[in-house]
Amino acid sequence: MNEVLTVRDLRHRYGGTVALDGVDLTVRPGECVALLGPNGAGKTTLVSLVTGLLARQTGQISLAGGDPRDARTRRGLGAVQQSIGFPNTLKVGELVAGAAVRRGASRGAAGPVLAELDLTSLANRRAAKLSGGQQQRVQLGMALVGDPALLVLDEPTVGLDVPSRRRFWEILAERRFRGAGVLVTTHLIEECSEVADRVVVVSKGKVLADERPDRLIDRITVRSVVATTTLADDRLAALPGVLSVNRDGDEVHLGTRNCEQVLRALLAEDPAVGGLRVEGARLEDAVVHLTEGSLV
Ligand code: ADP
Repeated sequence: MNEVLTVRDLRHRYGGTVALDGVDLTVRPGECVALLGPNGAGKTTLVSLVTGLLARQTGQISLAGGDPRDARTRRGLGAVQQSIGFPNTLKVGELVAGAAVRRGASRGAAGPVLAELDLTSLANRRAAKLSGGQQQRVQLGMALVGDPALLVLDEPTVGLDVPSRRRFWEILAERRFRGAGVLVTTHLIEECSEVADRVVVVSKGKVLADERPDRLIDRITVRSVVATTTLADDRLAALPGVLSVNRDGDEVHLGTRNCEQVLRALLAEDPAVGGLRVEGARLEDAVVHLTEGSLV
């Protein structure tokens, strides 16, 4: 199937600062790709180029077959970007209807989207006067209306409460089922691991990994044995198989590549040990290890 977004060898500089250093990225119809990486990695620059906010310097970007700087191409794009301000006079319904028209849909397309996002009762309120979470839902409505081929969502769940967040991912799943591709950045990494088909990890302007979240997690071979114990840290560190000792409240987390060996040693040294469990790596661990250059 044709890709809704193709980025090839994208490079970008701000004066002497290299923000993107040869980035390749694709999003296919129905796919959700999560863009992760530490501050300064180049995520905002990449998103700004893809959405046409920033002019391309070197490399290629194809958005639904067109150039994102072209207004007609941008009809196929729905974007949520951080810190946009709403004009003081415009009402919620007008904003979403306006976004529908700009995308080549009818004003009537706004109604169902307002309902989906629980915004119908706010349709006649001025967007600029709403709470942060409500404004975020207005932005989502403007991005989703008119069924764009690609959704680019920068921290889309910021300010949303848990039910709204869940609802948002449901709406997104339905849009993906209808063929929309999604590129999302978020600091809520674990949320991503549940919804993303692929995770693209960027650091210092380069793509370090582009793969399924579970595959990325599998690259971390260290697990944690968690327990409550009266043993001192130095004795725990000396147990066979223990690589690291970290305290978290009453619990101690013992990093290891051999859980069975650590469990046996711990039970032998401290018969009163309690609360035993083994924890696997999470996506966040994988991303941190990858970007710190120490995938263990
Ligand atoms: P991220 O969104 O991952 O935090 P950015 O794309 O904002 O990363 O930044 C990438 C690099 O480009 C950083 O080193 C940042 O300091 C630099 N940078 C970003 N925007 C500008 C700008 N307008 N002028 C100069 N340098 C910038």
